Amino acid sequence: MMTTPTQTSVRISRLDRTLITAVVLLASIFPVELFSHTASAPKGHDGQYSGKQGQVLVVKVKGEEQATEVKGTFLKRTIPFFREFRPGEPDGYIGLLGIDMQDEPGTYELAVDVKQGEDAKQLSFNVLVAKEKFHVEHLTLPKDKVDLDEKGAARWKAEQGQVKQALAENSRLKLWHSNFVEPVNGKRTGIFGSVRIMNGQPRNPHNGEDIGAPLGTDVAATNDGIVRITVDHIFSGKGVFVDHGLGFYSMYFHLSEVLVKDGDLVTAGQIIGKVGATGRATGPHLHWGVKLNGARVNPYSLLDLPFKNGATPSATVATPTPEPTPAQKAVPIKE
Ligand SMILES: [Zn+2]
Repeated sequence: MMTTPTQTSVRISRLDRTLITAVVLLASIFPVELFSHTASAPKGHDGQYSGKQGQVLVVKVKGEEQATEVKGTFLKRTIPFFREFRPGEPDGYIGLLGIDMQDEPGTYELAVDVKQGEDAKQLSFNVLVAKEKFHVEHLTLPKDKVDLDEKGAARWKAEQGQVKQALAENSRLKLWHSNFVEPVNGKRTGIFGSVRIMNGQPRNPHNGEDIGAPLGTDVAATNDGIVRITVDHIFSGKGVFVDHGLGFYSMYFHLSEVLVKDGDLVTAGQIIGKVGATGRATGPHLHWGVKLNGARVNPYSLLDLPFKNGATPSATVATPTPEPTPAQKAVPIKE
């Protein structure tokens, strides 16, 4: 899935720099808090951008109207850029940069290859990854829900392979648009990225957000896309993986019912299943996950992106994700 074409790296001339501006819009950032946790990093050629673990940055490259392909590389992940046309504005290329919840804090290069016919050049940006404060959860679950027997372990491994294979294919077209839908309007537990200690043993961090809702509640697709695979897996239960194009996937787990089939086209807000408690869950809830070019990001960062009603992203900082209330955190449901 990930290809990183090697291109001639060309230092940008002063003239080019005046022609090229890049704007990175941050979703849910507290700059003061951000920098209090991390040492300041050297400034990049075109400025420095930052986000916390699990966040999504919108990167805009302007002044490359004639480019035929724009592609970024960040921490070995490929970031495809797409063209944005707005009446009365210069054309620009936009890329969604996902910061994985486990990317080590630090400063990394976002290298952007710009191709125009036979010509190629590379832009370079510094991106500061700041630490997010994730919760630590101590869970006590029945032993068979935590430790798989040999048969269960083999099943789990096969299921992982099945998902990996299905997701190796992705739509090269951008299918999503700027209006993201919250799949279930329920109780957000705020446990994205939580470090989990199950029965005293450290486990994988929680790679999505859990939303508590009554059994049978409608679950909507967050945006337009293609159903890449539907599953019934040991941990995730009945689930749907939607491919929104350009390496962006959303996932919906623990469903009681799946209402779509592999290959179906879905639109934002379309009901694709019902809330359930299948797989490793102790009560009905939706596990909502998002992968962006391989990075596991907080799905709610999509709703916070500065795209509203099809408008061009503006330089405003999006509303930060509200902290869950203690009551919301108390939902005893995992995976
Ligand atoms: Zn979950």
